Amino acid sequence: MGGAGRNSPHRPNQRNEHALRIARNVCKANALVAYEDLNVKGMVKNHCLAKSINDVAWTLLRRWLEYFARKFNTTVVAVNPKMTSQKCSDCGAIVKKSLSTRTHKCSCGCEMQTDVNAAINILNLVSPATRAALPPSGLACLLREELR
Ligand SMILES: [Zn+2]
Repeated sequence: MGGAGRNSPHRPNQRNEHALRIARNVCKANALVAYEDLNVKGMVKNHCLAKSINDVAWTLLRRWLEYFARKFNTTVVAVNPKMTSQKCSDCGAIVKKSLSTRTHKCSCGCEMQTDVNAAINILNLVSPATRAALPPSGLACLLREELR
C-alpha cells in the first residue's frame, strides 16, 4: 500500500479538503461505497451514509474516492442513476417526486426519507457478485451533509 504519493490529486483548498475527508472516512469505514455515476449532482451511498453534494465537489469527491479505495482496499462502484430517486426501494413502483420532495411515500406502505430510498436503490444496483465478495456489514445509519 503506497502512501499519499504520485496518485494523490493535489488541489489545496477548503472544498478539496472537505471532499478528501469525506472520501477517506467512507472508504475507511466501509467495504463498499456505491455512488451514482453522475456528472452534475450525485449521491454517495454506503451501508451507513448518504450524501447529496454539489457539482464541483462531486468531481473532487470521485477522485478522492478512487484514491482512498486503493489505499483502504475499498470496493467503489459507480451505478446508473436512472430512477434511483423515483423508484420505490421496497416494491419497485415508480413514485414521481420533485427534487424538493424529501419524503418517499409509496402506496405499498413504504415511507422513508427520499435520500434513504435512493441510497437503497443505488446499493441494490451493485452486482450480486460484488456484494457477495464483501464482508457482512451492519446496517444502517444515515448522515446527510451538503458538501460546499
Ligand atoms: Zn412501494
